[in-house]
Amino acid sequence: MDLRFTKTELAFRDELRAWLDDVLPSVPSPPSATDYQAARAYDTAWQRRLFDAGYAGINWPKEFGGRGATPTEHLIYIEETERARAPYVGANFVGLLHAGPTLIVEATDEQRTKHLPGILRGDDVWCQGFSEPNAGSDLAGLQCRAIRDGDHYVVTGQKIWTSNGQIADYCEMLVRTDVEAPKHRGITWVIMPMDLPGIEVRPIKTAHGNSEFSEMFLDEVRIPVENRVGAENDGWRVAMVTFSFERGTAFLSEVIAAAEDLRDLAEISKRVLSKSATAWEDHEIRREIGRLQADYDAMWAMTKRMVSQAQRTGVPGPGGSVFKLFLADVQKRATALGYQLLGRMSLAFDDLGELSHIDHVGKRIYTLTLSIAAGTSQIQRNIVAERILGLPKER
Ligand SMILES: Cc1cc2nc3c(=O)[nH]c(=O)nc-3n(C[C@H](O)[C@H](O)[C@H](O)COP(=O)(O)OP(=O)(O)OC[C@H]3O[C@@H](n4cnc5c(N)ncnc54)[C@H](O)[C@@H]3O)c2cc1C
Repeated sequence: MDLRFTKTELAFRDELRAWLDDVLPSVPSPPSATDYQAARAYDTAWQRRLFDAGYAGINWPKEFGGRGATPTEHLIYIEETERARAPYVGANFVGLLHAGPTLIVEATDEQRTKHLPGILRGDDVWCQGFSEPNAGSDLAGLQCRAIRDGDHYVVTGQKIWTSNGQIADYCEMLVRTDVEAPKHRGITWVIMPMDLPGIEVRPIKTAHGNSEFSEMFLDEVRIPVENRVGAENDGWRVAMVTFSFERGTAFLSEVIAAAEDLRDLAEISKRVLSKSATAWEDHEIRREIGRLQADYDAMWAMTKRMVSQAQRTGVPGPGGSVFKLFLADVQKRATALGYQLLGRMSLAFDDLGELSHIDHVGKRIYTLTLSIAAGTSQIQRNIVAERILGLPKER
């Protein structure tokens, strides 16, 4: 086994690095986190630049418009874009990282032709309408009802926690098409255009002060049957494909970004005081910084494994749950360290003066959501127990 980069991989890195060096100086600063239309414009403009330069859908197969990068090139792409602090995938998260990949695996040719180019070009923003007020961890209990009426499903019900719901063009949505069947067998995965009559999106204000997600009220929304992905009542299986991408590969770039943030925290620790010396001289703080660095190294090793596994099988395995669980825990520790170092300055929402250009405080609030979004940590533990360790199923 030769673990060195090949000439082609090194050339890919050089080409990408040169492109990033060239374009990033002309990319404006991101807009305020509370202006969602501006954030959409910013994120989709970056996606368009990636598309024009041939980097959109880096690991999507070439036949579906992606770059078709090898696992190693994919990892190089994550490393280089994060190290250069290129814009985050942002509003394109759902489309690019799990709805699009689900369509590649599960949709018809017509559906792929209709939707994949818009995601890659940054023309279309997607959201996810899975959770409901009484169906989060117990997602299979969802009740949003779809009644067949000729060539349409007529959908009535409520969704909640729909990230980017207020700026999305399409929604990957789960609806109940059979109320008599056992709960996992009466669900269907559909594509809902967000401009259909009967959809009301009400933003929810979060502790962070923004409205990253919304409630969605659906009143007899007529969704064409041709928008169904997979068979009627087979939506639970399709949703598992979506989750394998969402939990498996969607959060990978966070590891590199987090390791960069840790370097920033190490610098901060040399400039702030803990008791009578700098925080860096406090051996407990230094030890925690070292432990966190080791944890990020371990996660990057896991990342490599998952990327190559996803490439081999087409779909990431349940190992993504181990990664997501670990990421949520490590990120909580890392950002808690930020609070400890910044002390009273943590109370500020954004202005840390000369100390750091990174919003460590905002990151702390964000990491609290990591153990809930895309399936809570308890649910990931259940998956690890049942699907990896082979322990008895939860009743
Ligand atoms: C930032 C963020 C963005 C989100 N974006 C979206 C989105 O775009 N689209 C979408 O559809 N949803 C989204 N969600 C919703 C998310 O998927 C749910 O919040 C999550 O699945 C948990 O569901 P719940 O909130 O109903 O909590 P519950 O399911 O009510 O869980 C409450 C608590 O009980 C625990 N629990 C529940 N069942 C079990 C069990 N069987 N074993 C052990 N413990 C259990 C949970 O772990 C949790 O601690 C988002 C959430 C967040 C935080």
